Amino acid sequence: VGFSELGLSKWAVDTCRELGIRSPTPVQRRCIPRILAGDDVLGIAQTGSGKTAAFALPILQRLAVEPYGVFALVITPTRELACQLAEQFRALGSTLHLRCTLIIGGINMMGQAQALMQRPHIVVATPGRIKVLLSENPDISAAFSKIKFLVLDEADRVLDVGFEEELRIIFKSLPKSRQTLLFSATMTSQLQALLELSANRSYFFEA
Ligand code: AMP
Repeated sequence: VGFSELGLSKWAVDTCRELGIRSPTPVQRRCIPRILAGDDVLGIAQTGSGKTAAFALPILQRLAVEPYGVFALVITPTRELACQLAEQFRALGSTLHLRCTLIIGGINMMGQAQALMQRPHIVVATPGRIKVLLSENPDISAAFSKIKFLVLDEADRVLDVGFEEELRIIFKSLPKSRQTLLFSATMTSQLQALLELSANRSYFFEA
């Protein structure tokens, strides 16, 4: 099976090929069709499994046909991971004139608030900073009011470092009609509880 059989458009398949990504990994084979079909996904998958492209490609493909407002919020535990995620989104979205913004701690919050007001397509964030911006600034929460995807990457690590309360606030402040995509190296009861905040039908898999 190739990427086009999974439902990806020609531009996406071509971009992958240019990046040396030729045949889909097991995580990509299982996730891409489900995400394109509109399902929520909980994937137990490790770093190196190709999980980033597994969610980034279908998100970008949907964005390519309905590019309105902030489209996806991607939450990850550390600044370093956030930078890597943003880099992969930019690479995979290089033909889309993609606006991808990084919202992480330790960097001027005014500048970040302004960047969010420009309504970037993809926001990659660590939980603490985005929670503050979303909960304290009504203009920013309005910018997220039509969001289509919430991604929680390395979910077990986000919870391990004590961000459960921030996640609850973030989950609740985003529209219910979104798709929620959770990726974690392990399944935990905390993660299960968090999933219950997301009301859509969901597809569970373990890679
Ligand atoms: P991840 O598991 O998302 O951290 O991805 C690990 C690395 O694998 C990244 O550098 C990707 O560019 C690369 N990668 C993702 N999907 C594929 C694929 N299907 N074939 C080869 N490399 C890939």
